This record gives sequence, C-alpha cells and structure tokens, in this order.
Amino acid sequence: MEDYWDGETEELDHTDEPQAEPEGCVGDLTMQEVYLDQLREALYERAGGIDQITDLLQQLKETDWVVWLNNAGARITVCRGCNHYVRVSEATTLSELTWLGDGLYCLECAERILSEHTFTCDICGHDFHARTPPAPFYICPECDSPSVAFALSSLAAQLARAKRQGLPATLTPRQWLNTLDYFSWRCAYCLRADFTCLDHYVPVVQGGGTTQGNCVPACTSCNSAKGGRAPQGYLIKASAFTRVAEYLAQFCEQENLGNTPGQA
Ligand SMILES: [Zn+2]
Ligand SMILES: [Zn+2]
Ligand SMILES: [Zn+2]
Repeated sequence: MEDYWDGETEELDHTDEPQAEPEGCVGDLTMQEVYLDQLREALYERAGGIDQITDLLQQLKETDWVVWLNNAGARITVCRGCNHYVRVSEATTLSELTWLGDGLYCLECAERILSEHTFTCDICGHDFHARTPPAPFYICPECDSPSVAFALSSLAAQLARAKRQGLPATLTPRQWLNTLDYFSWRCAYCLRADFTCLDHYVPVVQGGGTTQGNCVPACTSCNSAKGGRAPQGYLIKASAFTRVAEYLAQFCEQENLGNTPGQA
C-alpha cells in the first residue's frame, strides 16, 4: 500500500520542515485549507487521467489513514471507546481495568469507563474495580473470602424475604459481619456450633425485619428449635435469649422497631 504514494508522500509531509504556516494551523490535526489545496494538487497529479480516478478513489478508500498519518509524523490513534481520532499524547491506557489490555482511550472515555467500573466496597469502604457490577453487594477482592461470601448470600436472601413481606430490610453487609465477629462466627444461642444461618430474633412471621437490631447468627439446630415461634423458652435456655436480646437492644432504638426484642 505504501507504493501508492511513491514520490508524493514527501510532498505531502510537512511535519519535518514546517514552512511558514498560517496562524491556526500549527499543530492542529484538522485539515486546514492550505493543506487541502496541496492535497488536491497531489491527487490530480496522482490520478493522471479520468480513467485512473476510480482506481485512485478505491486506493484512497483502502488506505489505513491512521497508519499513513502516523508515518507522516502525526502521532494519532483511534480512541477505543468512542472511535474518534485522538492525539497519542492526549490518550491514556486503562491499566487498572486489567481486562481492557493496553488499548488507548481519549481522556473523556477513560474517565467515563473508569467510573463505570469503580465500586465502593460495602465492607471496608475502599474503591475497587470490577468488570461487571458485583451482586448482590459490592465486595472488594481484599474483603472477599468463602466465609464472607457465605455470610452475605444468606444476608441477601433474608433482606429479599423481609422486603417481600413489607418488613424493614436495612441490615448492611458491614453490620452483619460486625455481628458475626461479635459472636465469633458461632451460634448466638448455644455459643458452640458454627454459624450456619441468619436468625431473626423476632421471627419474620411475627413482623421481625432483617435489621441490625433483630438478626444474629444461629446454628441449624437452635434455629429450628426456635422455629417461627416467639423467642421465649422452648428448647433454648432463657439465659441465651436474654444474652441475645441484650446484644440486639443497643441497635433497636435507632431502628424504631415496633417489635423490640428487649421488650419481648
Ligand atoms: Zn473516546
Ligand atoms: Zn473491602
Ligand atoms: Zn446453636
């Protein structure tokens, strides 16, 4: 393709020996009139005769203009975001977004794409990048682990359940992990078995929401011992209920629950 331009390239390439350029043309990538005149002349000459015009137009169509302009010293590229030409000096890679490779973007696209892929971690509060919006919560790679994922999947399910019933659903990932840490990721009732489920102190069927003041970790047997019944007695010691109620009471005031565990 280069040999289409034998002889003419030098004539068109003004980057090496700038003559007295008119004001407004210096360093501007837009085709200015002075260059257009020269270009027209070069094209007429190149076409030679009326018979060659179709061939020439086809050649022009097939020319990779970015390569051609860069060979002439223009230093331009095509923004991968908006497909517009951009100066290489004003383009940037998005190396933070590893899946994008080393493509160049104009600054507007870079800013937009970066913000579309930046999320604030629901646990530590730091920003992190992800290809698709993390769901159901924004959890950064540093905070993520199998146990956190397990804890948050039960949280997501219980938030959805409370919402479906029209009950308060305000327990955040950070609050839930704080509660789990408080009980050392064990059952809040027996304090022995590992946590396996999120327990509503006031059961959902009795109007207990998925909130910080109503949720504790439980093991499967304590949870089923409680069932959907009022949280007194049954197979769990009264002292366990008192302990859990005391822990939850500190959050209840802010939540204005109609069904305060401390009063149960
Ligand atoms: Zn762009
Ligand atoms: Zn985090
Ligand atoms: Zn238990």
